[in-house]
Amino acid sequence: MISWGTNLHGMSSSEADCLFCKIVAGDVPSTPVYENGTTYAFRDIHPQARVHVLVVSRQHHEDAGVMAVEDPALLADMVIAGVEVARQEGIEESGYRLVFNTGSDAGRTVFHAHLHVLGGEQLGMFGRPG
Ligand code: 5GP
Ligand code: ZN
Repeated sequence: MISWGTNLHGMSSSEADCLFCKIVAGDVPSTPVYENGTTYAFRDIHPQARVHVLVVSRQHHEDAGVMAVEDPALLADMVIAGVEVARQEGIEESGYRLVFNTGSDAGRTVFHAHLHVLGGEQLGMFGRPG
């Protein structure tokens, strides 16, 4: 049965409109880096470091905090996938940063939980710009 807020694929309208759900489904192209049963990792379209990869959950969750409550094992999968990406990209020893942005002050733009993996060069400081 199709109910309010779902489409023919049984997705909620927010998931149907979600860029990262479309990337996971292969409907929007991306450059794959790593994948497993629960996560998918691909290169950020506007890299902020020599290595800038996004790890997303295959399942739609609004953000990391929601995921931690709804499916804590999946949050652990995200971090494990981020570490695997760092190993694959050869930056495990040199160091890397794992980032979850939340809300507009953090510059959050896509509302499907995603982990940034940044590295491959000396990274800047946290916090205020400049
Ligand atoms: P946020 O700012 O929400 O934490 O991160 C969203 C990230 O997604 C940004 O770093 C942005 O560059 C990246 N992004 C936005 N649209 C696309 C896209 O269509 N393809 C890829 N590969 N990355 C995207
Ligand atoms: Zn989504």
